[in-house]
Amino acid sequence: MTKNLLLLPKTKIDIDGRVDRVLRGLGNPEPPLRLEDVRELLELDLGFYTADDPGIAREAVSRIRVATIQVFKRPTLIIDAIRKFSLKALYLPDRKRILLDGNVPKLKHRWNEAHEVGHSLLPWHEEMMHGDNEHTLSRSCMDHIEAEANFAAGRLLFFRDRFVEEVRSSTPELKAVKRLHGIYGNTLSTTLWRFVESVGEEQPVVGMITCHPHLSRRPSGHDPAKPCKHFIQSTAFQAQFSRLSEAELFNAVAGYCGNQRGGVLGQAELILTDDNGESHRFYFETFYNTHDALTLGVCVKKASVLVASGRP
Ligand SMILES: [Zn+2]
Repeated sequence: MTKNLLLLPKTKIDIDGRVDRVLRGLGNPEPPLRLEDVRELLELDLGFYTADDPGIAREAVSRIRVATIQVFKRPTLIIDAIRKFSLKALYLPDRKRILLDGNVPKLKHRWNEAHEVGHSLLPWHEEMMHGDNEHTLSRSCMDHIEAEANFAAGRLLFFRDRFVEEVRSSTPELKAVKRLHGIYGNTLSTTLWRFVESVGEEQPVVGMITCHPHLSRRPSGHDPAKPCKHFIQSTAFQAQFSRLSEAELFNAVAGYCGNQRGGVLGQAELILTDDNGESHRFYFETFYNTHDALTLGVCVKKASVLVASGRP
């Protein structure tokens, strides 16, 4: 539950107001959001670097922050920080410049750029340069400053409550995730993430982003105890199924997945036991996009406690 309490409601409202001003500044466009328009509006500059061709990253900066740590106190070449901390993206407030690692797969640039736009929108992030690695760019990052930038990125790329409303009026299934992925132009993984977070307070829904679940296709470094890149739970799922481990769930999913190279790997009804020992029927489906397997599990039968509440 701490995940949802990470940012104070007041902070969320503040950030959301800044995102709203950006969208209004763009004339409330239709999705997908064009990040080049956002940059133009905010007068931000975008550059790319690679470890071999640092380009602009040859310059020095005086202060750099990576997650919670201020890593250098003396002027340092940006490229040295990039190499030392495996930085994938950066924001330089004094130059209003976003730098992205050109070697990161193109699909990920969109999220990384929006995260840096997030830093630029929040005046209290201005005091120093932000360097981002895989961890800080992930939505599960628990560092405040990074969680704020990620929150801003999500609100921006998914058009604030517009996406939430679309999710709540859709049937929760992978088909809807794919449709919204097409409309908003964000990756399937970030769309699945936002989808599960947006389904509302009442329905237990779980999402997993993992390697290919079939035994014959798991990578060599697969850790059976921590199989998920991301384990995403709706509010109701967190509250009712806190004892269910990601390892148990992954094994159950592996039980119905075929060894196809890509596309739909399978679907099945699974019975999950909640924290009170009661059984619930879930519909699970898994899709493999050749990088990650995306799994969505949706409770199809209301918990008996809700049925017994005696609403008219
Ligand atoms: Zn960051």
